[in-house]
Amino acid sequence: MNRSFTNKIILALLIISGAFLFYTSCSHPMNSSSYVVFGTECRITLPVSDSKKYFDILKQMEKKFSYRDENSEIAKINKNAGIAPVAVSDEVFYVISEAMRFSAETDGAFNPLLLPVIKLWGWDTGEYRVPTKEELERYLPLCDTNNIVLNENDKSVFLTKKGMGLDLGGLLKGYACDVLYEQLKKDGIKKGILNLGGNVFVFGNKEYKVAIQKPYAERGVVADNVFVKNKSVVTSGAYERGFYNNGNYYHHIIDPSTGECAKELYKSVTIVSSSSLVADVYSTAIFVKGDKLKSDFLLNYPEAEVIFN
Ligand code: AMP
Ligand code: MG
Repeated sequence: MNRSFTNKIILALLIISGAFLFYTSCSHPMNSSSYVVFGTECRITLPVSDSKKYFDILKQMEKKFSYRDENSEIAKINKNAGIAPVAVSDEVFYVISEAMRFSAETDGAFNPLLLPVIKLWGWDTGEYRVPTKEELERYLPLCDTNNIVLNENDKSVFLTKKGMGLDLGGLLKGYACDVLYEQLKKDGIKKGILNLGGNVFVFGNKEYKVAIQKPYAERGVVADNVFVKNKSVVTSGAYERGFYNNGNYYHHIIDPSTGECAKELYKSVTIVSSSSLVADVYSTAIFVKGDKLKSDFLLNYPEAEVIFN
């Protein structure tokens, strides 16, 4: 990785601060440690002395799911776009199937096949640029969710057109939170706080206060507090990651119907849900679609909450 790219990643990490929720509560001593995984700071706070096992789970997940890691299963699927189906592990098949199910459920507002357009904007390298209308029109068909074939029998995934690509960045941290929580329960750990770059999951028999970052304000400025128990709190916002070009601000959440940055209907969308995967998907999707999707979401997921800032 060249130095300027590394610097840009570090800068991006600082900018992502918007997604960082913070929390209080808990009277028993807890140990907290953090690592950079999924390109962001992941902090695990548990009543155990060593969280290495849980960071290892996250790192293994990153190796499997990151399109940036050329040995990942996702990178293999992308390399074989337009060439051949790729047999993948049960876990990768499951997550991609879920991503496609959510894509249908959100009427396309959540789309895990946006990589060709994400690359046009330079989000993959940090060398940002504003694509032309013609470029977006040319590349958008490659993001069409009809062009992926999932074969349940041999657990293979086929992107039928050359140039297509999967990017699970819109749900991976949520999925990872849920996986960690299941493992922690199996290990008999009764309370904890997981914060994967702003995807927060709190569990235990106490209620936690989770503070939501005020969009575009300095890191740590609170817009809202929520009181939750055994729930995930996930926020998506344009302010989390973006760049300026000719005085205009461009951000990382794409409207799949145009390939442009999603219109900022709200500065941020926070979802509270017992599933971090659901919270992650819908914070992104409701950011794109706004109120209309919010009503459908709450009908389908009555346990969840939506907070706009
Ligand atoms: P989040 O931070 O969870 O809102 O997800 C944003 C990330 O998901 C972006 O950095 C992209 O990698 C990817 N992404 C952007 N727009 C979308 C979208 N409409 N649907 C799914 N993933 C997206
Ligand atoms: Mg998301």
